[in-house]
Amino acid sequence: MSHVLTAVAWPYANGPRHIGHVSGFGVPADIFSRYMRMAGHDVLMVSGTDEHGTPILVQSDNEGLTAIEAADKYNRVIVEDLVALGLTYDLFTRTTTGNHYQVVQEIFTALYDNGYILPKTTLGAISPSTGRTLPDRYIEGTCPICGYDGARGDQCDNCGNQLDPTDLINPVSRINGETPKFVEEEHFFLDLPAFADALGAWLDTRDGWRPNVVRFTRNLLGDLKPRAISRDLDWGVPVPLDGWRDRKDKRLYVWFDAVIGYLSASIEWARRSGDPDAWRQWWQDPQALSYYFMGKDNIVFHSEIWPAMLLGNNGGGTKGGKPGALGALELPTEVVSSEFLTMEGRKFSSSRRVVIYVRDFLARYDADALRYFFAVAGPETQDTDFTWAEFVRRNNDELVASWGNLVNRAVAMAAKNFGGIPEAGELTDVDRELLETTRAAFAAVGDLISRHRQKAAIGEAMKAVAAANKYVSESEPWKLKGEENRARQGTILHVTLQAVADCKTLLAPFLPHSSQKIHELLGGTGVFAAMPRIEEVPDLDGTGPIGERTYPVITGDYTGAPAWESTPIKVGTPLDKPVPIFTKLDPSVVDEELARLEAEE
Ligand SMILES: [Zn+2]
Repeated sequence: MSHVLTAVAWPYANGPRHIGHVSGFGVPADIFSRYMRMAGHDVLMVSGTDEHGTPILVQSDNEGLTAIEAADKYNRVIVEDLVALGLTYDLFTRTTTGNHYQVVQEIFTALYDNGYILPKTTLGAISPSTGRTLPDRYIEGTCPICGYDGARGDQCDNCGNQLDPTDLINPVSRINGETPKFVEEEHFFLDLPAFADALGAWLDTRDGWRPNVVRFTRNLLGDLKPRAISRDLDWGVPVPLDGWRDRKDKRLYVWFDAVIGYLSASIEWARRSGDPDAWRQWWQDPQALSYYFMGKDNIVFHSEIWPAMLLGNNGGGTKGGKPGALGALELPTEVVSSEFLTMEGRKFSSSRRVVIYVRDFLARYDADALRYFFAVAGPETQDTDFTWAEFVRRNNDELVASWGNLVNRAVAMAAKNFGGIPEAGELTDVDRELLETTRAAFAAVGDLISRHRQKAAIGEAMKAVAAANKYVSESEPWKLKGEENRARQGTILHVTLQAVADCKTLLAPFLPHSSQKIHELLGGTGVFAAMPRIEEVPDLDGTGPIGERTYPVITGDYTGAPAWESTPIKVGTPLDKPVPIFTKLDPSVVDEELARLEAEE
């Protein structure tokens, strides 16, 4: 048994999230956490909404809201969507809490005291008409390296090079088209080069990471530069230094506070649990495991910058130092990055409006149908295209025809002929073979999930489903009529129901909603696959932008997770005629959805 921290990327609260966002980290992190709990580990799964930075200000201006009002609005939308998907966060909070502000400032102070934060004068872009800082990504121009004319101030999507806004040829604001003004500003920088050696040594000890993450991180370490951690902005965590603390126009950069969210959310969870030091079991025990889930555009923050910040807090860079007020903190065990989900051949992008929002999707389709698609066809190791045709095909041919049909046939036949779970007589080799197949699948599926190979893992689970379907088809229990065949019919149905029970456990991390229903169809009571809930809580400190108001968090009691093993079914348990578990979709859905997308474009 280990303490396992599941650190899930923080969705940005400037609008509702689309299915591309949740495919890469929300659902995979939940599958992993659900499995690890069933395997007996003590999981802490945390995240929240990322609510600082200019994009929130842009969105709130558009809507005539204050920044905190916009953050309140989209935090609530996102919380509801993630709960509808069944994502079992122990705590999903926000970056505008008083607790988060305190923890961010403690980490800043530790880095500063150890000498890893450097003041520096730089050229920053501001909007001449508003006087407000223009973030790098809101500046567009021609790439000085490849000549692409849609390059952004942070990077060029054409050649992939990282850029500074001052590198761009003919820079313009993407907000209103005006030419930005560059002015000298004093800012703080994180001294990343001071961690190059320590990061390299740490990376050498990381086994089994996805090759894309290792490759990308090695490249980054070859070229580390100090990175700005403050901005000219009136929205964010104040810089906790005399002369800066009370300035309204200087704040810590949004990415700097957001990555600290994993830690602050763990601390908030502990404070709310009644044991304020409980978080230390996941952060300070060298035996504890920590897994960070995100899309590939965020690898740099998790495999380079956050580990550097942790090293700096611990005094582990070239300048040495001692641990900050919170004590020494463990670096990530693994950074698990997915690739991008494209949509009908185009990249998902809110700005280009080729999107399907989580909420719209779940208004028309089951959460498990979407979770199934992500597990079997998500962007695990390469960019993947979501098409409605493929979604409908997989739902109908695999989920409904294979798994749903197996459950339905087995329960219906047992209910009709025996009124419950029949006893097994003498087992034949064929019976034993099926039971051995589903029992053996636990080790195979569990091993694959623990190594973040979820696509292969659900493939193994569905192979067990296929073996059970084949067994039923070949055994033909419906043909066994009359008293002389009754014992054999009962045995076949018992074996089939045991296989169904095993498969619903194997599939529970992927398809928790339907596994709960199947648990009940098989006569089970109580919670089999726990679900998250929304709780309206007061801010613990009242010192952040939320003030003393309440806000919705995602939490839940996941302690009663069933064991990751075959559990014998109970002979004599009454069974009713089953209701269908999954919904077969009419092929016309594809055209309807494509028409909807085109109308929105
Ligand atoms: Zn370029």
